[in-house]
Amino acid sequence: MTTRGIDELKEIVALSHRILFATGLTTSSGHSSVRIPGTDRFLIKPWPHIHMNRLRAENIIVLDLDGNKLTGPDNVTRVSEWALHAEVYRARPDVNGVVHSHQKWATMMGIAGKTILPVLHPDLSAVATEPLPVYDESYATIKNASEGRQVAEKLGNHIGVHLRTHGMLFAAPNLETATVEAIHAEYQAELTWLAMQIGEPKTIPKLLLRPGLERRGPDYIPEAWEYYKWLDAHPESARYRVVQV
Ligand SMILES: [Zn+2]
Repeated sequence: MTTRGIDELKEIVALSHRILFATGLTTSSGHSSVRIPGTDRFLIKPWPHIHMNRLRAENIIVLDLDGNKLTGPDNVTRVSEWALHAEVYRARPDVNGVVHSHQKWATMMGIAGKTILPVLHPDLSAVATEPLPVYDESYATIKNASEGRQVAEKLGNHIGVHLRTHGMLFAAPNLETATVEAIHAEYQAELTWLAMQIGEPKTIPKLLLRPGLERRGPDYIPEAWEYYKWLDAHPESARYRVVQV
């Protein structure tokens, strides 16, 4: 695995939040995190919330898997749903990046008990190759480590999990992949629902989706990440609340 320094990882965490904002998935709440490679520590945004579009590397704090803050400014603490991230890292040694969002379209599909289908371009659809599991306890809000463990269990080896009536969680070998998959899932969810309004959605065959899944790994950064990085540097180019393929 590529060894990346803490400073670089903090930049990636902050950037992930700004990209989730720029692509219309989040506004003020939601959080991305990165595992410090080979450790049981991770980098995450602090509480009180900082608007997603304002997060910078210097805001990011370090937690251990028990939720103890190891580094970060004195006047901030951990987000309430820190255990979502910690328990996924504990259960999945292959996961180094986690995104939790309240993104509208993908969340809606979980609320309705409908499956997000691979319907929009093979390169963007791998995330929807298999139905995402649904965590459906206590309105799916995560208040402690035990609930975090239940979510991690429900996630299993999947790319993501619905937190029914709450939001989504995506887990990947790196945060760049988890971020891009959250965005792609949102596009697939929106198009699945729209297609359902006027007919039977026609899906992309698994054979065409497999290469996208096979590329997943700690050293593979999706090409789309570069595009979204550029978007972050050129916010005037964002078209908010529309599908940006
Ligand atoms: Zn949440």
